[in-house]
Amino acid sequence: MFYLRHELPLDRCPSCSVNKPRIALIGKHETADYSGLNKRFWNVYQCSTCGGLVVAYSHQTHADAVIEEIFPKPTVVADDIPDREREHISNRRSTVFIAQPAL
Ligand SMILES: [Zn+2]
Repeated sequence: MFYLRHELPLDRCPSCSVNKPRIALIGKHETADYSGLNKRFWNVYQCSTCGGLVVAYSHQTHADAVIEEIFPKPTVVADDIPDREREHISNRRSTVFIAQPAL
C-alpha cells in the first residue's frame, strides 16, 4: 500500500526498472467525471534515474490518502514465491530490460 505523498517508494521504477529509485513529486492535478463526481486527486512523479513519469491517484486528498492505482503499473513479483527465486526473477527482469537495443 502506498500513500499520495512527496515520494513514491517503489522497489523498482516502472519505466527503467532501476532498483530502489528516487521517484519524487513534480505536480498535482484534480479530475472529475462529466457530472462533477468521481473526483480523483493525481500526483505526477518523476524517476531521478530515467526521467520517466509515474502517475498515481487517490479519491482522497489528505496526507494519508491511499493510492488506488499507479501508471505505468509497477512490476511485482508475487509474495508467495520463495525469496531466492523472487530475487532471481527480479534480476532476470532487470537483465531483460537492459538487453533491449537503444532506439
Ligand atoms: Zn526510472
